Amino acid sequence: DDRYRTDLFQVRRGEPLAVIRPASTEDVSKALAICYNHRQPVVTQGGMTGLVDGAVPVAGEIVLTLERMREVVEVDDVAGTLTVQAGIRLQEVQEIADENGFFFPLDIGARGSCTIGGNLATNAGGNRVIRYGMMRDLTLGLEVVLADGTLIDSRVKTIKNNTGYDLRHLFIGSEGTLGVITGAVLRLHPKPISQSVAFCGLESFSAVTDLLHHLRSRLSGTLSAFEVIWQNAYRAVIEHVPTVRAPLAPEFPYYVLVESLGGDSEADGDYFNTVLHDALEKDLVTDAVVARSRKEVDGIWAIRDGIPEALLALRPVINYDISIPLADMDAMARRVNETLDAAFPGHVTLDFGHIGDGNLHISTTVGEDTKNHQSQLDDIIYDLTEQLDGSISAEHGIGFLRRPFLGKSRSPQELSLMRSLKRALD
Ligand code: ZN
Repeated sequence: DDRYRTDLFQVRRGEPLAVIRPASTEDVSKALAICYNHRQPVVTQGGMTGLVDGAVPVAGEIVLTLERMREVVEVDDVAGTLTVQAGIRLQEVQEIADENGFFFPLDIGARGSCTIGGNLATNAGGNRVIRYGMMRDLTLGLEVVLADGTLIDSRVKTIKNNTGYDLRHLFIGSEGTLGVITGAVLRLHPKPISQSVAFCGLESFSAVTDLLHHLRSRLSGTLSAFEVIWQNAYRAVIEHVPTVRAPLAPEFPYYVLVESLGGDSEADGDYFNTVLHDALEKDLVTDAVVARSRKEVDGIWAIRDGIPEALLALRPVINYDISIPLADMDAMARRVNETLDAAFPGHVTLDFGHIGDGNLHISTTVGEDTKNHQSQLDDIIYDLTEQLDGSISAEHGIGFLRRPFLGKSRSPQELSLMRSLKRALD
C-alpha cells in the first residue's frame, strides 16, 4: 500500500523495511523494545497530512502506524475530558465532543484524515488558536512509549498538577523524536451557543492591528478567529475557487475574517453588530459583511478555507509558515514581496494567516521551475524572519524540510539542550 511510502503532498517517497500496525499500547511497547534491541530506526505515522516531510520513511526505517488504535477510552462529562487512543481522527473527536454536548476547538483543513497522535506530535494550531490555544493547550494527559519500549502513562484529567516536570510538554511538538504518543486525555470546552461571523475590508495594516485590539477588548474573550487575507490571496481565491462568492470587491489591501463564539443566542448577534459598527465609525474597518444565516457563515469561511484550493491551482508552490512579532508583520510581508519582485519578476505570492497569533503563511510560485529555486526562496524568507526575531515554523513543525534552518530560530544553547534531551530518551 502506497500510503506508508509518501504523504498527502508527496514531497518525497521512501521504501520502508516493514510496516508495524499495532492494535494496542502493549503491542507498541513490545515492537519498540525489539527495534531498540536491534538498533532498528523507526518512523511513526499518523494521517500523513503534515507539511514538512516528517513522517515519510528514509532508507532502512520501519514504519510504525497507529491507524488501528482508534478507540475512545472514556468520555467524562463531569470533568469535560475525552480519553482516546492516538490513531483516532480529529474529525471523529470533534463529532464525539459534539454528541456529548461539548466542543473540541482544534480545527485544521486535514480534519478528516489527520490523527490526534499527529496533532499532538506536531502541536497543531489552526484557525481558533487565538481563543483556545494550540494542541498543547487542549491536552491534559498523555500516554507515551519511549524508544526502549518503556510505557509512560500520564493520562491525568486534572488541570493542575505541579508534581515536578510537566512531561506532556516534552512530547507534544516533538515530532516523534522522543517517543511514540499512543493515547491522550483531551480537554473539552463548552459547546458555543452563538456564532457571529463578519468579513471586513481594511485600508492599512495599522487598521488591522487596531481592529484586533478593538475586538479583543470589546468582545472580551469570545473572539475565536481573526484571519487576515492580503489582497493577493483574496484575488487568488476569487479567481481559482469557483464555489466562492466574493462578498467584497477585491480593492482593499487587507481582509479580515472575524468570528465570535458566545453563550447567548438572543443577545450575541446584536452585540457583535454594535462592536463592528463601532469599528466602522472609528474607521478601523472600511467595509464589512456580517453573516445572517448558517449559509452565509459557511460562505464567509469558504473564502479562508478556499486558499489551499487556490494554491493547488497555482502549483508548483512553496509554502512558508512563520511567526513574526505583530508590529513587524506588515514590514515582513512587504519586504518579502519587494525582494521577490526584484529576484523573480512575475512571481505569484499569497500572504494570509492567523494574525491574531502572529502567524503568517506565505505561499509563492515563481513558475514551472519553482522547486529549482527552493533554496534561494528559503534564504530570502528565513533571513528576513531571522532579522525580525521571528520563528521559521509557527505551526507546521520542522520535519526534514525545515531542519537546515532550525538554527535561525533557536540558539546554539537551545539546540544543545534539545540534543541532550534526545540522547537521554534514546
Ligand atoms: Zn495555518
